[in-house]
Amino acid sequence: MVLASLPLTYDECRARFRWWCAKAGLEVEPHPIDARGPEGQQLTIDVTQVGATSPERALIVMSGVHGVEGYIGSAMQCELIDRLVPQALPDGFAVLLLHAVNPWGMAWWRRQNESNVDLNRNWNRDHVTPPPNPGYDELHPFLCPDSPELPTPESFLDRSRVLLEERGMPWMQAAVSGGQYTHADGLYFGGDRTEQSTRIVASVVAERLGAVGQSLCVDLHTGHGAPGTYTILLDAPPGSEPHNWLSERFDADRIEATVGNPHATTAHKVGQIGHGLADVLPESVHRSITLELGTVSDTRMILSGRSENWVHHHGDRTAPAGVDALWANRRCYTPDDPAWADHALAHGRVVLDAAVRSAAGHEPLLASDT
Ligand SMILES: [Zn+2]
Repeated sequence: MVLASLPLTYDECRARFRWWCAKAGLEVEPHPIDARGPEGQQLTIDVTQVGATSPERALIVMSGVHGVEGYIGSAMQCELIDRLVPQALPDGFAVLLLHAVNPWGMAWWRRQNESNVDLNRNWNRDHVTPPPNPGYDELHPFLCPDSPELPTPESFLDRSRVLLEERGMPWMQAAVSGGQYTHADGLYFGGDRTEQSTRIVASVVAERLGAVGQSLCVDLHTGHGAPGTYTILLDAPPGSEPHNWLSERFDADRIEATVGNPHATTAHKVGQIGHGLADVLPESVHRSITLELGTVSDTRMILSGRSENWVHHHGDRTAPAGVDALWANRRCYTPDDPAWADHALAHGRVVLDAAVRSAAGHEPLLASDT
């Protein structure tokens, strides 16, 4: 099955997800969050499970942790449901799908959630004091200026060029996207408490998969990496056991081990959900990867996110300049381009099918195999 078009709104994504679940005979468990959508509509994290009810091995697939990145992830989950043949999955194996982990961000076209929190920097925040990020503190006035007008790109680029020359790219990556816990109106803010969505994910996974001995989490994202390609991010050192395990099962050329890697294209982050799930799966050998689908350049991504953040905090979302900034930002995460969507869905099929086989421990039947 190939989706005819990419759903454009949270509501459409959720409707499609529920429709594909119903078609496959799967129950959907909706978990409402308190915040509402732009039309006042209820927002939910929808959960379904394919295969065993008390599994020993499990694959967890999440979409929409970063709201506005979630439309393609939602489509990938629908396609996966359609490809899985539940009766052919091995005994004791299940696929748990969490749809729209940040439904508010998906509905409002924001990467952050209703509290301006980056949910992928927020795991167990109630009990964790994350490390400071002095680099971000230095950049914040340029990244998120409290200016009366939409800030110009130059007011950030001029400063960042100097800093890049002085400190180098790893410093810049860690400063910008490593996560920060000091500026609640800033970018990549990890929050000052555990957010509702994070708590829902933790309780759902603990309740449904508490007994698993082996688990793999695939978290679906967009916006990082070369446009039109995909990258599998692994928060482990190159050559480590997790890296070797992954390299034997996925396209090794697409895997980037981000810890202790001088060639890494992204910072190591604290508070990621996929990793954090190990806390609620105490009996499990738990592994976690992030699938990133490249869209536009990092510079364009940062500048668009900066403009959108300014509109959210200081501007008017409904004024023409505000709408332009929101749409430009949305297109950075989900390009308005059917060819991009086709490639992204094809990449998603490759990675998720490999994930099913890897997590199951052997080759289950997929609809595409029959
Ligand atoms: Zn993301």
